[in-house]
Amino acid sequence: MSKTGYFTHPDCKKHEMGPGHPECPERLDAIEDRLLVTGLDVALERYEAPPAALADIELAHPRLHIAALRGLHDWLREDLEAGGPPYSQIDPDTSINAYTWPAALRAAGAAIAATDAVMAGEIENAFCAVRPPGHHATRDKAMGFCFFNNVAIAAKYALQRYNLQRVAVVDFDVHHGNGTEDILAGDPRALMVGIFQHPFYPYSGEHPAGPNMLNVPVPAYTRGMEIREIIDITWMPRLEEFKPELIFVSAGFDAHREDDMGQLGMTEQDYAWITMRIKDVARRFSKGRIVSCLEGGYALSALARSVEAHLRVLADV
Ligand SMILES: [Zn+2]
Repeated sequence: MSKTGYFTHPDCKKHEMGPGHPECPERLDAIEDRLLVTGLDVALERYEAPPAALADIELAHPRLHIAALRGLHDWLREDLEAGGPPYSQIDPDTSINAYTWPAALRAAGAAIAATDAVMAGEIENAFCAVRPPGHHATRDKAMGFCFFNNVAIAAKYALQRYNLQRVAVVDFDVHHGNGTEDILAGDPRALMVGIFQHPFYPYSGEHPAGPNMLNVPVPAYTRGMEIREIIDITWMPRLEEFKPELIFVSAGFDAHREDDMGQLGMTEQDYAWITMRIKDVARRFSKGRIVSCLEGGYALSALARSVEAHLRVLADV
């Protein structure tokens, strides 16, 4: 049996936000191709992501936010049948098509199902190759390519369903995970550690929203080696002190130096290094349990190589 689960669903490739949009279905194709070419796919246990139950999404989002997205979805579909446009815009970067709602349910459902499989001991850790991503979705607002906060939903779910006392969220996307912070700030059962380019979209994170938030803003052009040093000094003592029983990862790969979305200098070797650090903490405190969810990463080749590096460490291959 493989120790690493790979959760995804075809619906996640049907959601798209218009021609030329960087958060595109080809991102998942690039990852899948890389896993096939490298043979890494055979080392992973593949799972089809189920749709999340609305009651579980409500752990992180008010019913009204969920109903608003559902309403927009129904309206778009009706409008489409009447010959209307294929997209409905939520903000300048974020829009829905006829498949956004089912894809968003599968993305959150992947994180929840991965949590269940890891907690049951079926697998040691998991990677959710899903879109839409989640870490910019606040309690009541879809933004920055995100609709439901997959990681925050699963973290809240893990706390409730398994009565855990301490879950950690590690976010290494180039952008601050403002949505996850909004949802988890002030909950002493959760610790979030993040590193992100600043000042940069979404222009938050400089002043943490709660004592359980460890935000590390870094300037543009910070290199991978410097980021490693910063992580060792800031994240590691805090994670060791917290002793998480389960670790979630907001795995965004847009801090890669080939990714034009940001201006940080990470490479796939740096992502492997970060994953090793996370794994060390997981081994010591959380029985190896890690649930990692795809967030950003828009340079397709760099994204695919970085996910491969991340997965090789998770799966020990
Ligand atoms: Zn990002």
